[in-house]
Amino acid sequence: MTDRPPVPPRRTLRSPAALAGAGLIRPETVESLAAVAERFSVAVTPLLADLMDPADPNDPIARQFLPDLRELEATPEDHPDPIGDQRFSPVKGIVHRYPDRVLFTPILHCPVYCRFCFRREKVGGGEAVLGEADLRAALDYIRAHDAVWEVVITGGDPLMLPPARLAALLAALDAIPHVAVIRLHSRVPISDPARIDDALLAALDTGKALWLAVHCNHARELTAAAEAGLRRLSRAGIPLLGQTVLLRGVNDDAASLEAVMRALVRNRVKPYYLHHPDLAPGTGHFRLPIAAGQALMRHLRGRASGLCQPSYILDIPGGHGKSPIGPAYLSEAGIEDWQGQIHPYPPPQLR
Ligand SMILES: *Cc1c(COP(=O)(O)O)cnc(C)c1O
Ligand code: SF4
Repeated sequence: MTDRPPVPPRRTLRSPAALAGAGLIRPETVESLAAVAERFSVAVTPLLADLMDPADPNDPIARQFLPDLRELEATPEDHPDPIGDQRFSPVKGIVHRYPDRVLFTPILHCPVYCRFCFRREKVGGGEAVLGEADLRAALDYIRAHDAVWEVVITGGDPLMLPPARLAALLAALDAIPHVAVIRLHSRVPISDPARIDDALLAALDTGKALWLAVHCNHARELTAAAEAGLRRLSRAGIPLLGQTVLLRGVNDDAASLEAVMRALVRNRVKPYYLHHPDLAPGTGHFRLPIAAGQALMRHLRGRASGLCQPSYILDIPGGHGKSPIGPAYLSEAGIEDWQGQIHPYPPPQLR
């Protein structure tokens, strides 16, 4: 090491050595973290690297993206396929759990690798995109199933596809009469918003309604660059949803959770889901009790606009799908108001 200050990185950092070179981790940890990086991919974009404060051991951005030795710790509840996608995958690249919608995963690469990712056993590996034959089979499957009203393109990150490929894929879906809605889930607006250029916006200009769910967990992720990217998407007429994972040490306090929801709404992004963390391998240090999440939701409901309220969701292990997990405001005692007071309801004649 020299005593020159670290140079802000301009490329995505993909190894512990690169992270140390940028001053984000201590050089003496590089060797031990290599084992983590070997098991689960590492990528930190320059924008997110700049956002981290290496002097803060509890930095909520660093915690989401920097490899951590605790990822090698197994807990008894860990599961490599935490939400049971495998059982519901009729062909490669498709998960069909609910009758009216499918997940479609044409690409398994992401702009960054979140340390808590529930699909971490699948993303970032050698195989990046679905091959031509698999892609055809996946589209044939959607074509053959009239009940599929919505296609949710996730990954990986679909906005990592070259715009021409993405445009071709969306055109193929556009041509399927029973597909009414296309939804993309992406981390690009937060991690690499420069990708949202004219070519990408042109690719997203489809005949069918296209919705974009933006994965964002902390208000600081909404940098000026991310806000500009969201504005371009919104100007292109794309409705934006927010998808947030509740994570210990990132957003599991009332102020952080409220701040990220307000920041999303301010940027025209409607909070959609707050995900309870899944049982993905090596993510035990991010988990918290459901009661803690419910208390946070109650606090949010009591303080913030209805626009800022996501549904708090658990993806049931084993592949049973997503269910809202409260908190419940109606009980035998009555209905609870936003200030925590209980009022008798319903009146006896309506019970
Ligand atoms: C999460 C998920 C969806 C989308 O669920 P919504 O509740 O519509 O957001 C669809 N299919 C599968 C297999 C999923 O895991
Ligand atoms: S961007 Fe999404 S799929 Fe990719 S690592 Fe993060 S959570 Fe997982």
